[in-house]
Amino acid sequence: MKSVSVTLKNISKVFKGFEGNDIRAVDDVSFNVNPGEFVTLLGPSGCGKTTTLRMIAGFETPTKGKILIGEKDVTFIPPWKRDIAMVFQSYGLFPHMSVGNNVAYGLKMRKVDKNKIKEQVSSILELVGLKGFEHRPPSSLSGGQQQSVALARALVVEPSVLLFDEPLSNLDVLLREQMRVEIRRIQKKVGITTLYVTHDRTEAMTLSDRIIVMNNGKIMQIGSPNEVYEKPNSKFVASFMGKIAFFPVEINAVEPGSIKVTIKGKELILKKGIKISENVKYVLGCRPEGLYLTAPKKGHIEGRVLTNVYLGNYVESYVETEFGEIMVKTEAGTSGGFEEGAAVSVVIKEELAKLIPDD
Ligand code: ATP
Repeated sequence: MKSVSVTLKNISKVFKGFEGNDIRAVDDVSFNVNPGEFVTLLGPSGCGKTTTLRMIAGFETPTKGKILIGEKDVTFIPPWKRDIAMVFQSYGLFPHMSVGNNVAYGLKMRKVDKNKIKEQVSSILELVGLKGFEHRPPSSLSGGQQQSVALARALVVEPSVLLFDEPLSNLDVLLREQMRVEIRRIQKKVGITTLYVTHDRTEAMTLSDRIIVMNNGKIMQIGSPNEVYEKPNSKFVASFMGKIAFFPVEINAVEPGSIKVTIKGKELILKKGIKISENVKYVLGCRPEGLYLTAPKKGHIEGRVLTNVYLGNYVESYVETEFGEIMVKTEAGTSGGFEEGAAVSVVIKEELAKLIPDD
């Protein structure tokens, strides 16, 4: 399958609200998806991710900016001339057609030879794990299988770009996990350039080569799953990617491989993860696995355990502190656990703490 890049240059989309007011759904968004890459647009409801995807598909026209697929400017080209395929949350299968005919539909429209259609349909159904399902009605399949048919129907026409709009939202948790793995496997095998929209960070983390985190129509950060989780450029991205506690911090010295900071009068030596700018204010960000509890100890953050939540291999302890409620993750069965109501100290693991711009 051919793979091409997708480029957005300063794309904005303004809708008119009921009172004639402007709704800036997408605000000056620029990014590039490399050929064969899997990129996810991630953000809270209303952040503009679906509108961005719909502009790439050609269902919406940008108010400003340019969209390129490969070298071609497609900004004002209708969807059917863009060489893209899209998979929706509501599978969009034709209920009166068999699985085989659903998948064959795009090829028939393109007047492909009958024998060739049969061959291609059967090979793509095998790819998505539905070999032998040609004659079944879609209604006889599970939600996950129906979404696989939708994926087969999208792939069979060999588009240059594949777009997904929250395709797993209608599935239950277990099926969603299985489908994530399937989608990634198939995308890697086919090597098709893919853009995926979701508000589910786990989905974004497991599927993507890179994640574009959006908020209020704007891009907040672009990076690999590891980068946006480990080196968030703002408190918004840090919190959106997972639970995190923020502490006020003073930076004392920036050295080649480390940074010395003080929190509550105690000096911590952090690994240097990000470039520190003089005129930016920072907070210290600690994920639950970057903290542990001890018996009350001078110089550490004092607290009281409010609740322990047992989750199989680990326990989440919610601790009341002067910096608000903090969650600390402890491996089950270790001595790190404290009873609810116990007075404790929250200790920061220096090697996992990170400085984050205080936005
Ligand atoms: P969700 O996850 O809820 O779908 P989203 O991040 O995909 O959210 P969009 O659907 O792109 O967000 O919407 C971004 C903003 O644009 C929202 O404020 C939304 O109400 C507005 N919007 C989207 N489509 C239209 C439209 N056709 N007319 C008016 N406003 C719109």
